[in-house]
Amino acid sequence: MATKKSRNRWVIGNWKMNGSLPGNATLLRDIAAVRSGTSKLGVCVPFPYLVQTQAALAGGAVAWGAQDVSEHTSGAYTGQVSAAMLVEFGTTLALVGHSERRQYNAETSDVVARKALAALNAGVTPVICVGETLAEREAGRAETLVGDQLHACRDVLQKAKGAAIVAYEPVWAIGTGKTASPAEAQAMHAFIRTTLHALDADAEATSILYGGSVKASNARELFAQADIDGGLIGGASLVAADFLAIAAAL
Ligand code: PEP
Repeated sequence: MATKKSRNRWVIGNWKMNGSLPGNATLLRDIAAVRSGTSKLGVCVPFPYLVQTQAALAGGAVAWGAQDVSEHTSGAYTGQVSAAMLVEFGTTLALVGHSERRQYNAETSDVVARKALAALNAGVTPVICVGETLAEREAGRAETLVGDQLHACRDVLQKAKGAAIVAYEPVWAIGTGKTASPAEAQAMHAFIRTTLHALDADAEATSILYGGSVKASNARELFAQADIDGGLIGGASLVAADFLAIAAAL
């Protein structure tokens, strides 16, 4: 049986809609200097920067990814980007269901599941983001909500056999400076792993990352929790020193 030690441990940056060609060049150069270690590092960049990211990171220890992917393989879907297109740029990771996409693009959990499946079918690792809002937490509905988001992805999680990544990102902690306490985060991660068992997904092999205002100062304690296998990092992934300090905490 896989254990915390044998599961893949990841620190993945989510640049969101940030960056510029000159700024990225510096950031990617500093990140590319990282040597391969026991944990894995990745950056999810805006689509137009995949070419630049591939050129900067190819052959190194850092993976790169997209922040979304179409559920469709090709056709009349203006503005969308297919998983096969991502693969053409060496992309191995794709975020799906980030709370900002659920909120601003009205993505339902069923759409998220289809996107995750499209990524998996193309050989791209889906990073399935789940998490509750503050109102849902305060109403005592956090587990119900996260459980429903995972149930919608049951087929793809089963098919992935541990190769998909789940990222727990409480919406109230994203970009707010508020972090779930290590105990709160661990409790939800344990619930997620129990749910993955119930779904017959390969729960012990699945990496479950925590995201939400992770910084170098709080990363170590979060990552020390039994069911936290790394982090999905937003704001702090835009500064190489901060991102690499978080990676070092893993
Ligand atoms: C995110 O966008 O996935 C995220 C976790 O953001 P931040 O680290 O800025 O809270």
